[in-house]
Amino acid sequence: MELDDSFYALVEITCRDLYIKSLKEIPPDIVEAIRKAAARETKEVGKRIFSHYLQSIELGRNKDMMVCQDTGIPIYWVKIGGKMRFDGSRLNDAIVRGTERATREHPLRSSIVSPLKRENRQTSTGDGIPVIKYEFAADCDHIDILFMPKGSGSENMSSLKMLVPADGVNGIKKFVLEQVIGAGAKPCPPTIVGVGIGGSSDLCMALAKKATTRPLGTKNPDPQIAAIEDELYNVINQTGIGPQGLGGDTTALAVHIESAWTHITCNPVAVNLQCWRAERRRAKIWANGTVEFGF
Ligand code: SF4
Repeated sequence: MELDDSFYALVEITCRDLYIKSLKEIPPDIVEAIRKAAARETKEVGKRIFSHYLQSIELGRNKDMMVCQDTGIPIYWVKIGGKMRFDGSRLNDAIVRGTERATREHPLRSSIVSPLKRENRQTSTGDGIPVIKYEFAADCDHIDILFMPKGSGSENMSSLKMLVPADGVNGIKKFVLEQVIGAGAKPCPPTIVGVGIGGSSDLCMALAKKATTRPLGTKNPDPQIAAIEDELYNVINQTGIGPQGLGGDTTALAVHIESAWTHITCNPVAVNLQCWRAERRRAKIWANGTVEFGF
């Protein structure tokens, strides 16, 4: 059954609400990790920063305030159930309109500008923005939209290196570590360190970004990759960079690696850091109008 106008209207207001909600309520796994890191912190300055983070989390949740001023780059990952029948271009338009409505109706600061003239439409949209990535799920009767307002402090610390196979796994680990140390305070640590390995250059970067959205506590299903996640997590947390880079025991909340197969002569690695607020929101939408919000 082809869906009618009401479905696209529902997608539009859901995307509007995803943007606004994501800026005010930090995901429960992140809150828990910040609480635990605060409880373990041994440095005075680190304890103070964690206390500010926890206050910001409370203000966001209880006073309907934004946890951080940055409205970020709006990014949506849309997983389309194979049992859904609709017009993909209308779905895409609805997501863009929802982004614009969040910005106008809240109102949110529009953080999006053209790259050279720095023009701002005051809608959080522009050519290529919001970023919308599509995936498909077989035997699924709904669409699943994961939204992230990616803050610039952490996004500016993104990096890619086209290593060669001779650089091996050690080359990958060395690159990740260098990026985290080089980034220092800039991505507002403690961060989720997203790492992409394999693929083409653009796919590798996309994998690193997607890796930051994995809930804390999850591991890559490949035991060899999961072991590298653990190893990098332990080493990064020995750097002493700490919260806001002012020194402390927790520099990373997690290291998440996503991978794809690559060319025989390639060994790409990408790093995308996600700041401590790690905002993300999810909504599932069914054809009958049911919407379920989550993280
Ligand atoms: S990097 Fe994150 S926490 Fe830091 S200013 Fe940007 S959005 Fe806020």
